[in-house]
Amino acid sequence: MENNQDLTLNYEANGKDSSNAVHDQDCIFLTKAVEEAYAAVSCGDGGPFGAVVVKDGEIVVQCHNMVLRNTDPTAHAEVTAVRMACKKLGRRDLSDCEIYASCEPCPMCFGAIHVSKIKRLVYGTEAEAAVAVGFDDFIADAIRGTAKFQKVHLEIKKADGGVAEAARGVFQKTKSQFAMY
Ligand SMILES: [Zn+2]
Repeated sequence: MENNQDLTLNYEANGKDSSNAVHDQDCIFLTKAVEEAYAAVSCGDGGPFGAVVVKDGEIVVQCHNMVLRNTDPTAHAEVTAVRMACKKLGRRDLSDCEIYASCEPCPMCFGAIHVSKIKRLVYGTEAEAAVAVGFDDFIADAIRGTAKFQKVHLEIKKADGGVAEAARGVFQKTKSQFAMY
């Protein structure tokens, strides 16, 4: 997986935050999430979604969708990442952590991000990329939905540039390799 250094990130969501800087690290961690998305399919663990939790610039956990492996419809990449990060850190509060998701989080995952108090979300591609290969279009209901109260304390960025293209390409490149659930 290439490490695209010319990534730009567009600030979305609440607009009041002044930390609208492009972080080189965002590209690195988002690329890890995209790699996890491919791994989910190649391992047969689940759909092509990956997530990475980061604290103080260090990866706490990197995970992918485990729906098939765990026979668990809730084992989305972000939910799995939140669970594993809490277990690893030994606490329920992830307010000093950031999460990188290969794709726009669905409402369930967005809820998990919210209740864990994660401070920042960076995602690679919009829900439409997943919907195009057959995933439920409810994914787009989270960030673009009406749950504004859940977004007040969360900085949300959507990637642009090379890493966003990489994240978007996951679905078309893997769609013949997994059974839709
Ligand atoms: Zn989800």
